[in-house]
Amino acid sequence: MIGCSKCGKKKKVQRLPASRTTWKCSACRKPLTPPAKAEVQCFICANSVFLRESKINKSDYYICGPCCKHGRHRLLDNLRPEGFILVHKMNAAAGYTGFDIREPSDEEWASVQRAKRILELELQQYREGRSNV
Ligand SMILES: [Zn+2]
Ligand SMILES: [Zn+2]
Repeated sequence: MIGCSKCGKKKKVQRLPASRTTWKCSACRKPLTPPAKAEVQCFICANSVFLRESKINKSDYYICGPCCKHGRHRLLDNLRPEGFILVHKMNAAAGYTGFDIREPSDEEWASVQRAKRILELELQQYREGRSNV
């Protein structure tokens, strides 16, 4: 049995450490100033979590899991200036998804245009198909 030199808490140990008079329990051994934590706040519902900065994938916006599930992250699309893209980062911070709004690279721009053309074509076919019924 050993007692914490700070709070006096007793702990069962197999072998007494050499520094038994200055031994501290795990709670007392913790540094007084915990590592810096940053707040991650859901842009929609304002729920927030505190996470160690190393655990956060820095993003412009964060949306919590439930809000993402309800498709509320689509609101961010309203903030996206014409020609910019919304980048999703799954689990950027704990259960929060990170979103960046930024200018697309040439490659991304090309793929957006390609997707747009395909969508327009599909919509056209869909409308034509409906008018035939
Ligand atoms: Zn202690
Ligand atoms: Zn939320």
